[in-house]
Amino acid sequence: MADAPLSARAVAGGGEFDAAAIERGRVLFAQACRFITGAARLDQLPETGLPEVAFAGRSNVGKSSLINALTGRNRLARTSVTPGRTRQINCFELGERLYLADLPGYGYARAAKTEIAAWTRLVRGYLKGRANLARVFLLIDSRHGPKDSDRDLMAMLDQAAVVYQLVLTKTDKTKPDALDARIAVVEAELGRYTAAYPRLASTSAVKGTGIAELRAAIAALATG
Ligand code: GDP
Repeated sequence: MADAPLSARAVAGGGEFDAAAIERGRVLFAQACRFITGAARLDQLPETGLPEVAFAGRSNVGKSSLINALTGRNRLARTSVTPGRTRQINCFELGERLYLADLPGYGYARAAKTEIAAWTRLVRGYLKGRANLARVFLLIDSRHGPKDSDRDLMAMLDQAAVVYQLVLTKTDKTKPDALDARIAVVEAELGRYTAAYPRLASTSAVKGTGIAELRAAIAALATG
């Protein structure tokens, strides 16, 4: 698989992981990943003793593609066109060491107010009540940077005091210079948010770029 061209800042963003950390990420994601449940209500969420990481982002940001690239499975996370499973928190168990939660997408142009209210209630309740939640990975399209709906979620995460890390997606669609500039601007903005992890991750699900590093970041949060 050919590497997408990478910006210096994107490489630096993944540079905190040595070979041993990358290997721990590979081993974790080589294990079985099972779909556990889709929770439309908070009381449907499974109780687990495992640490959990969640993935959030606007609809179409590439969340399903990224989860599928991480887990090496083509159809684990369904794309947003699949009816039914897009308004739920979809929970997966990875190797009995970690839970993955796929949060419902947001930011539809034509979303009804009642839908936005339901999303907000579910996600806010999840963020406040999930004691084992280790980190939220907030996906941002590398071509656009954060939008107001992303900033709303960042404010919600700050308020819930949940650590979150921004992950740029679709970096194969962005030229290295533009990606460098994008990362600099976004990292500068992150200083305003108290619970934001200071470094961005940069990924392309299509090219596989940054996937090993993101697996390493997640493995550092897993048990065992
Ligand atoms: P979701 O709605 O956030 O789950 O997004 P999807 O994973 O369904 O992706 C939305 C669209 O973006 C689809 O057409 C994908 O093929 C495309 N896409 C996702 N990831 C990438 C990527 O890394 N690079 C490129 N070029 N396209 C991507």
